[in-house]
Amino acid sequence: MEFKVMPLKSDVSEIIETSGYEMLVLKNETLFPSREEAEAAIKEQGGSCAVRFKHVALDQLEPTVTMGQITDRIRRMREQRDKFEAEHSIHELSAKLVTCTNCESKIAKSYVEGEMCPVCGNDLRSPYIPAQIATYEEKIAELQREYNDARERQLKRALAKGEIDVRVMWLVPVHEQRD
Ligand SMILES: [Zn+2]
Repeated sequence: MEFKVMPLKSDVSEIIETSGYEMLVLKNETLFPSREEAEAAIKEQGGSCAVRFKHVALDQLEPTVTMGQITDRIRRMREQRDKFEAEHSIHELSAKLVTCTNCESKIAKSYVEGEMCPVCGNDLRSPYIPAQIATYEEKIAELQREYNDARERQLKRALAKGEIDVRVMWLVPVHEQRD
Protein backbone atom coordinates (compact mmCIF):
# COMPACT_ATOMS: atom_id res chain seq x y z
CA MET A 1 0.00 0.00 0.00
CA GLU A 2 1.30 3.42 -1.00
CA PHE A 3 0.70 6.53 1.08
CA LYS A 4 0.83 10.24 0.60
CA VAL A 5 1.32 12.88 3.26
CA MET A 6 -0.95 15.88 2.78
CA PRO A 7 -1.35 19.16 4.68
CA LEU A 8 -4.05 19.25 7.35
CA LYS A 9 -5.79 22.09 5.54
CA SER A 10 -6.17 20.14 2.30
CA ASP A 11 -9.58 20.18 0.69
CA VAL A 12 -11.62 17.02 1.28
CA SER A 13 -12.18 16.64 -2.47
CA GLU A 14 -8.45 17.07 -3.06
CA ILE A 15 -7.63 14.30 -0.57
CA ILE A 16 -10.17 11.95 -2.14
CA GLU A 17 -8.89 12.71 -5.62
CA THR A 18 -5.28 12.10 -4.58
CA SER A 19 -6.27 8.86 -2.94
CA GLY A 20 -8.10 7.36 -5.91
CA TYR A 21 -10.26 5.32 -3.54
CA GLU A 22 -13.94 5.71 -4.26
CA MET A 23 -15.04 5.27 -0.68
CA LEU A 24 -12.62 7.15 1.53
CA VAL A 25 -13.47 8.17 5.08
CA LEU A 26 -11.49 11.00 6.65
CA LYS A 27 -11.09 9.94 10.23
CA ASN A 28 -10.76 12.83 12.63
CA GLU A 29 -11.14 11.15 15.99
CA THR A 30 -7.62 9.81 16.47
CA LEU A 31 -4.34 11.67 16.12
CA PHE A 32 -1.69 9.02 15.57
CA PRO A 33 1.67 9.73 17.23
CA SER A 34 3.72 8.39 14.32
CA ARG A 35 3.51 7.58 10.65
CA GLU A 36 4.03 3.87 11.40
CA GLU A 37 0.99 3.74 13.63
CA ALA A 38 -1.07 5.74 11.14
CA GLU A 39 -0.09 3.35 8.33
CA ALA A 40 -0.98 0.34 10.45
CA ALA A 41 -4.40 1.80 11.22
CA ILE A 42 -5.13 2.48 7.54
CA LYS A 43 -3.97 -1.00 6.53
CA GLU A 44 -6.27 -2.48 9.15
CA GLN A 45 -9.16 -0.71 7.40
CA GLY A 46 -8.03 -1.97 4.01
CA GLY A 47 -7.17 1.53 2.81
CA SER A 48 -10.70 2.89 3.16
CA CYS A 49 -9.72 5.82 5.37
CA ALA A 50 -7.26 8.67 5.75
CA VAL A 51 -6.04 9.56 9.24
CA ARG A 52 -4.24 12.41 10.96
CA PHE A 53 -0.78 11.86 12.38
CA LYS A 54 2.18 13.73 13.83
CA HIS A 55 4.51 14.22 10.93
CA VAL A 56 8.12 14.68 11.93
CA ALA A 57 10.25 16.54 9.41
CA LEU A 58 13.08 14.00 9.46
CA ASP A 59 14.72 15.53 6.42
CA GLN A 60 15.71 18.45 8.63
CA LEU A 61 18.15 16.18 10.44
CA GLU A 62 21.65 15.75 9.06
CA PRO A 63 23.34 12.46 10.03
CA THR A 64 25.51 12.88 13.13
CA VAL A 65 29.26 12.13 13.12
CA THR A 66 28.54 8.80 14.81
CA MET A 67 25.94 7.93 12.20
CA GLY A 68 28.37 8.84 9.43
CA GLN A 69 30.99 6.56 10.97
CA ILE A 70 28.54 3.68 11.22
CA THR A 71 27.53 4.20 7.58
CA ASP A 72 31.20 3.98 6.57
CA ARG A 73 31.63 0.78 8.55
CA ILE A 74 28.55 -0.74 6.91
CA ARG A 75 29.89 0.16 3.48
CA ARG A 76 33.32 -1.36 4.22
CA MET A 77 31.76 -4.51 5.66
CA ARG A 78 29.61 -4.92 2.54
CA GLU A 79 32.69 -4.48 0.35
CA GLN A 80 34.55 -7.14 2.35
CA ARG A 81 31.61 -9.51 2.05
CA ASP A 82 31.31 -8.97 -1.71
CA LYS A 83 35.06 -9.43 -2.19
CA PHE A 84 35.11 -12.62 -0.11
CA GLU A 85 32.10 -13.98 -1.96
CA ALA A 86 33.61 -13.23 -5.39
CA GLU A 87 36.98 -14.73 -4.46
CA HIS A 88 35.41 -17.89 -3.06
CA SER A 89 33.06 -18.58 -5.94
CA ILE A 90 33.13 -22.12 -7.34
CA HIS A 91 33.86 -20.46 -10.67
CA GLU A 92 37.26 -19.40 -9.29
CA LEU A 93 38.28 -23.04 -8.78
CA SER A 94 40.57 -24.53 -11.41
CA ALA A 95 38.71 -27.87 -11.67
CA LYS A 96 36.15 -28.10 -14.48
CA LEU A 97 33.86 -30.44 -12.53
CA VAL A 98 32.32 -29.96 -9.11
CA THR A 99 30.74 -32.68 -7.00
CA CYS A 100 27.63 -31.93 -4.99
CA THR A 101 28.00 -33.19 -1.42
CA ASN A 102 24.24 -33.55 -1.14
CA CYS A 103 23.09 -35.44 -4.26
CA GLU A 104 26.59 -36.53 -5.39
CA SER A 105 26.08 -35.24 -8.92
CA LYS A 106 29.22 -34.41 -10.80
CA ILE A 107 28.51 -31.24 -12.69
CA ALA A 108 30.48 -29.25 -15.24
CA LYS A 109 30.92 -25.82 -13.74
CA SER A 110 29.96 -24.24 -17.04
CA TYR A 111 26.42 -25.51 -16.40
CA VAL A 112 26.21 -23.92 -12.99
CA GLU A 113 24.81 -20.46 -12.65
CA GLY A 114 25.75 -18.98 -9.31
CA GLU A 115 26.85 -21.35 -6.54
CA MET A 116 23.94 -23.77 -6.27
CA CYS A 117 23.65 -27.34 -7.52
CA PRO A 118 21.28 -27.28 -10.52
CA VAL A 119 20.05 -30.76 -9.58
CA CYS A 120 19.16 -30.39 -5.90
CA GLY A 121 19.74 -26.74 -5.05
CA ASN A 122 22.49 -27.46 -2.53
CA ASP A 123 25.25 -24.86 -2.03
CA LEU A 124 28.29 -26.24 -3.87
CA ARG A 125 30.83 -24.24 -1.89
CA SER A 126 32.69 -25.55 1.15
CA PRO A 127 30.44 -24.97 4.17
CA TYR A 128 32.85 -22.46 5.73
CA ILE A 129 32.23 -20.05 2.84
CA PRO A 130 28.48 -19.48 3.29
CA ALA A 131 29.14 -19.52 7.05
CA GLN A 132 31.68 -16.72 6.69
CA ILE A 133 29.27 -14.77 4.48
CA ALA A 134 26.56 -15.20 7.14
CA THR A 135 29.02 -13.77 9.69
CA TYR A 136 29.44 -10.69 7.51
CA GLU A 137 25.67 -10.39 7.21
CA GLU A 138 25.26 -10.56 10.98
CA LYS A 139 27.85 -7.83 11.48
CA ILE A 140 26.10 -5.67 8.89
CA ALA A 141 22.73 -6.22 10.60
CA GLU A 142 24.28 -5.31 13.95
CA LEU A 143 25.70 -2.10 12.52
CA GLN A 144 22.33 -1.26 11.05
CA ARG A 145 20.76 -1.68 14.48
CA GLU A 146 23.43 0.62 15.92
CA TYR A 147 22.63 3.14 13.24
CA ASN A 148 18.90 2.99 13.97
CA ASP A 149 19.58 3.45 17.70
CA ALA A 150 21.77 6.48 16.98
CA ARG A 151 19.04 7.87 14.75
CA GLU A 152 16.45 7.32 17.46
CA ARG A 153 18.60 9.14 20.03
CA GLN A 154 19.18 12.00 17.62
CA LEU A 155 15.47 12.27 16.95
CA LYS A 156 14.55 12.31 20.66
CA ARG A 157 17.16 14.98 21.31
CA ALA A 158 16.00 17.11 18.42
CA LEU A 159 12.34 16.78 19.45
CA ALA A 160 13.14 17.69 23.06
CA LYS A 161 15.03 20.78 21.92
CA GLY A 162 12.38 21.74 19.39
CA GLU A 163 14.92 21.58 16.59
CA ILE A 164 12.62 19.89 14.14
CA ASP A 165 9.10 20.61 13.09
CA VAL A 166 6.31 18.34 14.13
CA ARG A 167 3.09 19.01 12.28
CA VAL A 168 -0.26 17.32 12.15
CA MET A 169 -0.80 16.04 8.62
CA TRP A 170 -3.10 13.69 6.77
CA LEU A 171 -1.84 10.28 5.80
CA VAL A 172 -3.71 9.25 2.68
CA PRO A 173 -3.69 5.78 1.12
CA VAL A 174 -3.09 5.95 -2.62
CA HIS A 175 -4.98 3.47 -4.76
CA GLU A 176 -2.72 1.44 -7.05
CA GLN A 177 -3.16 2.14 -10.73
CA ARG A 178 -4.97 -0.59 -12.57
CA ASP A 179 -4.20 -0.81 -16.28
ZN1 LIG B 1 23.11 -31.56 -5.68
